[in-house]
Order: sequence, then structure tokens, then C-alpha cells
Amino acid sequence: MPPRTRISCAGRECAETPTVDWESEVQLVSSLAKLQELERKIHELRQCIPAGILSPLAPISTSNNPSDQAASPSTLHHGLEIAAREGLANIEQFQSLWRSPELKPVWDHVQTRINESNGQLVQPTGMWEKDYASILAHLTTTKQSAEEDRLRQEEETERAKALSSEGGWRSVIERFSQRDLPGVHIIRSKNQDKPEFAVTLARAGMIFLLEGTREPDSPGVANWQVANKVASGRSPTKLELAILECLDSRPRKWDLAFLLDMISSYAEIKQTPCAKCTKLTNNAAQLPVIRRVQPAEQPTDSTQIFSFNAYHPDCL
Ligand SMILES: [Zn+2]
Repeated sequence: MPPRTRISCAGRECAETPTVDWESEVQLVSSLAKLQELERKIHELRQCIPAGILSPLAPISTSNNPSDQAASPSTLHHGLEIAAREGLANIEQFQSLWRSPELKPVWDHVQTRINESNGQLVQPTGMWEKDYASILAHLTTTKQSAEEDRLRQEEETERAKALSSEGGWRSVIERFSQRDLPGVHIIRSKNQDKPEFAVTLARAGMIFLLEGTREPDSPGVANWQVANKVASGRSPTKLELAILECLDSRPRKWDLAFLLDMISSYAEIKQTPCAKCTKLTNNAAQLPVIRRVQPAEQPTDSTQIFSFNAYHPDCL
């Protein structure tokens, strides 16, 4: 989402207007698509009078059918009233679109260009030669898939790095411990060579056992598995099982830093509301156990901290 600036408009209601980068192709195409849509609506509104509003009377003037001509004056009046109201509502909708905050910078830009060209309008044929809505849809899809490709390549590079480093997981634990997150503790196993340790969440009263597995030809950990540790004689609670299921379905299974941040996001599970409905429990009295990683603001690197949003299963 582009940054928003507040424009001053003395005496009138202020609207937030997005700042516009007129060098951006997407911005130009999306502005043209908006103008094209406005023009399409103008043509639609031109039909409003007389054809649209008087349409309820059309059967009388065009039909030879006596039953059409026999419509009662009150029926005709009712029909006319509805048509007039609809016509007016369409005009008002068009006006508010024309004056909307999204179109304000477009009109300002058009005016600036007119001023710069001494009133000479750039209008080669006076007609729209392209469909800017479909060009915009194409540009957006292309941009999205380029971004997905970039992220995939980036993860592949990070994964290859993690797999080639034999003790890389130890420094991830070291960096994580240094952050000293309240209520989150790491318990290392006696055998420091094995990628095995536990994470405790004191306030949630949960312990997770983490174990890394390797692939035959690489020294680093390829996959981290998580299990609940419960006192003997007790079976895991529904909440523990739901959290485990969510942890198991995470992406970046090779990424210990990601997993540790994800587990930490459950540290305050009983105080963390759902990012969608903003409630703690839903109608089924469930806590928001689902976690979705927030998009990274910085390009990923080895010290990145992942943030997660909490959701109820039925709020996704
Ligand atoms: Zn919710």
C-alpha cells in the first residue's frame, strides 16, 4: 500500500489522498483505467434521460397490446418514481466517484499537464484505443508472479546456505537466546552435537521438543520436527494439538529461526486476540491458534525476526 499523506482543505471535510508516483507505469495505467471507467459511466448516464427515466411509459407509446395501455395511472406513477430514483442515485454515485480521493491526484495531474502544454490537450484520436482495465490486470499479475519468483529464489539460496552449514543451527539458537524473550526459554540437550533441544513457554504452560533431521549429502539440518512434551500420564490438550498442527503446516521447514519465532508467537496465547475479528475466543470458545507470517519489510537475511498474526480457524 502506498504511503498516505493528509491534504489540507480548509473548511471542507479532509480526505486522505495517496501520494502518487507519476513515473510508475502501474500508476499511470491504473489512473487511465479510472478515467476510462468514468467515461463509460458517462455514456451510461446519457441514456438516463429520456430513455431510462421514461422507460416505464414505453409500453404505452410503443405497444399495440390493449393490456399494456390499460396500466393504471398509479402503476405508471409508481414505475416512474422508481426509475427517477434509480436514475438520480446513479448520477450521485457517478459524482462521488468523480470527486473521490483516488481521483483527486489524477485530476490534479491532468490539470498540471494542461497548464504545462498551454491548454493544448493531448488527444490524438479523441477515442480510447486500449482497454486500460485489462492492461492493469495483466501488469498486476506479472508483478505478482515476478515477486513470487524472487521470494522463491531467495528462500532457495537461504535454504542451501543452512543445509551447507554443519553447526548453523547452534548460532541460530544463540542469537535467539540473546533476545531474551519473556517467558520463552531454550533447554539444550546434553549431547550438544545432536540437533535436539526443547523450548518452554512458561505462561502458556507448554513445552515443545525440536529435532532436526539431515539429508544424506548435506551437513546442515534439512527439516525441523516439533513434538509436544507432556507430563507422563497426561495426554496433550486440544489447544496443544491445534498448535502442533499449525506448526507442522508451516513453510520454511529448514528454517530454525522461523520456527523459533513462530513458537514464541504462542507465548501469550491466552492474551493474543485474532487479527481479523479482534476477539480472543470465537463462538466455539477457541483461541486464535492459527499463525500467518507478516510480509517482511526488509529483505530476508540471517538476523531477520519473523512476526506472526493470530487467527481463529474460521476467521481465515
Ligand atoms: Zn477471529
